[in-house]
Amino acid sequence: AALLARVDELVRRVPDYPKAGVLFRDITPLLADGPAFAGVVDAIAADAPDGVDLVAGMEARGFLLAAPVATALGAGVLPVRKAGKLPGPTAVEHYELEYGHASVEIHPFTVPEGARVLVIDDVLATGGTAAATVALLRRCGADVVGLSFLVELLGLDGRAKLGDLPVDALVQVP
Ligand code: 5GP
Repeated sequence: AALLARVDELVRRVPDYPKAGVLFRDITPLLADGPAFAGVVDAIAADAPDGVDLVAGMEARGFLLAAPVATALGAGVLPVRKAGKLPGPTAVEHYELEYGHASVEIHPFTVPEGARVLVIDDVLATGGTAAATVALLRRCGADVVGLSFLVELLGLDGRAKLGDLPVDALVQVP
């Protein structure tokens, strides 16, 4: 409970970023606080499903969480990148944003068939990125065992896009 209050304190609310009407949650103050960051990594690792082989982190803030959680679990880390950042061969999943579209890419040869993968990002918003990541990982033979977020924006109902997968969020905000 102390950790959750601390996380809530250290996530900065930025109105009208990146565009008017959006209340952006900025996690850089949390990353900069050693004890709070360590606490968050420990909490995500403690709540993780059993037997995770790989922790997938979404570019870019998801990387910062996925890597320390992976080492805490004795698992590997899998960078889920935006379009055009990885040398081929890649596996790609396209998805729709509110305006326009985006894609996520991975190196499929780093995902052993049946690997148990935990997906991590900083914020669950509309869930579009997370859902595309799950679809991509499954297409590459992964067994996605759960998703974990620092902050879940409840108003956007991103969880609804994730079917019945276990979804963990340290902090839920309206
Ligand atoms: P989605 O809408 O697909 O759930 O979110 C798109 C991407 O933007 C995700 O990687 C998510 O972490 C990030 N994102 C969306 N809203 C916020 C926010 O308020 N703060 C931060 N830090 N990231 C956000």
